Amino acid sequence: MLKNIRSLTLEELKNDFLALGFQKFRANQVYSWVQEKGVESFDEMTNLSKDMREKLARNYTLNNCKINKKLVSKIDETVKYLFELNDGEYVESVVMKYKYGYSICISTQVGCKMGCTFCASAIGGFVRNLDAGEMLSEIFTAQNDLKVKINHLVLMGTGEPLDNYANVMKMLEILTDENGQNMSMRHISLSTCGIVPKIYELADKKLGLTLSVSLHASNNTIRSNSMPINQKYDIDELLKACRYYATTTNRRISFEYAMIKNVNDSDECAYELANRLKGILCHVNLIPVNNVRETNFVKSTVERQKRFIDILASRGITATVRRTLGSDINASCGQLRASTKKSR
Ligand code: SAH
Repeated sequence: MLKNIRSLTLEELKNDFLALGFQKFRANQVYSWVQEKGVESFDEMTNLSKDMREKLARNYTLNNCKINKKLVSKIDETVKYLFELNDGEYVESVVMKYKYGYSICISTQVGCKMGCTFCASAIGGFVRNLDAGEMLSEIFTAQNDLKVKINHLVLMGTGEPLDNYANVMKMLEILTDENGQNMSMRHISLSTCGIVPKIYELADKKLGLTLSVSLHASNNTIRSNSMPINQKYDIDELLKACRYYATTTNRRISFEYAMIKNVNDSDECAYELANRLKGILCHVNLIPVNNVRETNFVKSTVERQKRFIDILASRGITATVRRTLGSDINASCGQLRASTKKSR
């Protein structure tokens, strides 16, 4: 199988080019086409000879994913894509427009192993990891289609980024390279359900990205019921790792908490959560749970959300309700892919 040229760092490309007999400066030229301009074919590399373009095409692939579906929100211009990968699998990405620019939420795996009961991405299980170039091509395809520069990234689509650690780290290295997109690590968020050893590993890298942790519960009973990962790394182990992350990197952790009616939204849960998070540099993001057709969870009421925030605030923990974007296009990840697979 041919290598995906978009998965290569500049160093790797230079080494490859040495072996292929290309002059050294060619690697910089090609890298710029691939990672800065985001071209989708070798023929677009107009400063290379036809021979060289042909030789590249014999040695590498350079395809972005293809747009299978595109939904644009009439409310807030959020764009949701269903992308088709080379092997016919599908992943979803969402582009959101903010005051500060464009942000993309990408998938890191086809399907997911984690099995969270409230999540549409768990339906159908795990298929495979995405490689670095495939993740980057989600960004390039959206960017080329919308003709805008995307300057923020969230790893909150389908998949568990810390379960595809090596590819995700490589993707981040390429995305933040000044010879390519030059995205700032400060503009990147990585969301995890809590793969504890990888949180320590990530902390030690001191990358400067924002870590989001999908907590969704204030104790082990509730968390183990909805998130199987909690049976492997329980809530205390997870929060210990989070404490380490925050102190090592000096970055505030964002705890995601999907509020589910009568499951995790009581006053008692709020007090328990406040106790557990005491002393961690953090913020709590409350998300009214999205109704996924296959599950029967119901959103907490607005009054409950307010009460929850008040209790956390009274204990010194800041919390806000996450703004919903793209509600008319069902912009939360996993649902489009699940419905497409079903209709196939
Ligand atoms: N695997 C990673 C990233 C993907 S999920 C993680 O678990 O963090 C992105 C976020 O959406 C997570 O916080 C996840 O728990 C949340 N989520 C999944 N299904 C949801 C739903 N039905 N309603 C609200 N949030 C949901």
